[in-house]
Amino acid sequence: MNWISEWALPKIKTLFGAPREVPENLWHKCPACEQMIFHRDLERNLHVCTHCGHHMRVGARQRLDYTLDEGWQRIELPKAPQDPLRFRDQRRYVERLREAQAKVGQEDAVVVAHGAIEGNRVVAAAFEFSFLGGSMGAGVGEALVTAARLAVLQDAPLIVFTASGGARMQEGAISLMQMPRTVIATRMVKEAGLPFIVVLCDPTTGGVTASFAMLGDIQIAEPGAMIGFAGARVIEQTVREKLPEGFQRAEYLLEHGILDMVVPRPEMRATLARLIGLLRLPERVAPPPPMDEVAEPVPALAAPEGPAVPA
Ligand SMILES: [Zn+2]
Repeated sequence: MNWISEWALPKIKTLFGAPREVPENLWHKCPACEQMIFHRDLERNLHVCTHCGHHMRVGARQRLDYTLDEGWQRIELPKAPQDPLRFRDQRRYVERLREAQAKVGQEDAVVVAHGAIEGNRVVAAAFEFSFLGGSMGAGVGEALVTAARLAVLQDAPLIVFTASGGARMQEGAISLMQMPRTVIATRMVKEAGLPFIVVLCDPTTGGVTASFAMLGDIQIAEPGAMIGFAGARVIEQTVREKLPEGFQRAEYLLEHGILDMVVPRPEMRATLARLIGLLRLPERVAPPPPMDEVAEPVPALAAPEGPAVPA
C-alpha cells in the first residue's frame, strides 16, 4: 500500500472514474415509429411523437394540465365502498387496490376537477388508465356522479376524458351497476341544458364504451385511439371473418359515423373552447316567438301535380 493507492487513486476515481448519474427517462422510444425522442421535446409536444404524431397515453392529471387553464382545482370525491365482495383471485382485490393507490397517488381511477378552458368554466373528469386499467367500479361511478352534480350546480359543461378497460371485474355486479348509474348522471347534465362532451382517449373499451362514453352531445377522440366494446380478436373469432384495416380506431369510427371529430392533442384545448362557445352562445338558444306573434297558419300544401292516375 502506498500513497498512490491510498490517496491518489480515490481522488482520480472521484474526478473521472465515478459513473455520472444519467436519468433513465431522458429519452423515450416511440412505440409506433421506434424513434428516440428527448423527454423535454416530448413533454413540450404534450406526449405526441415529434416524428410520427403517435399519441402516447398520459395520466389524468397531466391531461387536465394540458387542457384546462392554469389553476384548475381537484374535487375531493366521496368515499365509495372498497372491495364490497371481498374478492380474491390470485391476490386479494384490496391488495391490488392499495398497490394502485400507492403507485398512482389517487383513490381511484378518475380525477374530477373544476376550472376553465380559455376562460369558459367547465367541470372535467379524466380517467387514469394506469390505475387498474382505468376500470369502472363503484369509486369511478361515484366520481362521475359527483362530476355531473357539480356541473349542474356550477351551470358548467361537463367534459369527460375516457381511458378504460371497462367494468372492474373484481366488483362484479356492482361494477355493472355503474353503467346505468353514469348514464343517469350524465342525463342530469343534459336535462339542465348543459353540454356534455366526451373525449375518447386510447383505449376506451367494455362497459365504459357501452354506457355514458357514447352519449356525449359531441363525441371527440384522439388520433389513433382504440375504441370498442369487445376486443378485435374476440370479435374475429366469433364472426369468423377478417376485420377491416384500422377496425376500432378513431379514424375508422369517424368515417363510419360513430364520432363527430378526431382532434390532435395540441388542438384539443382550442377545439373544446370553441365548441363550448358555440353550444352556449346565448342567441343560439333564443326562445321561440310567442304564440300571438305567429302569422296565419300555413295553408296545406296542394297535391303535387303529376301525371293523371288512371282510374
Ligand atoms: Zn413516433
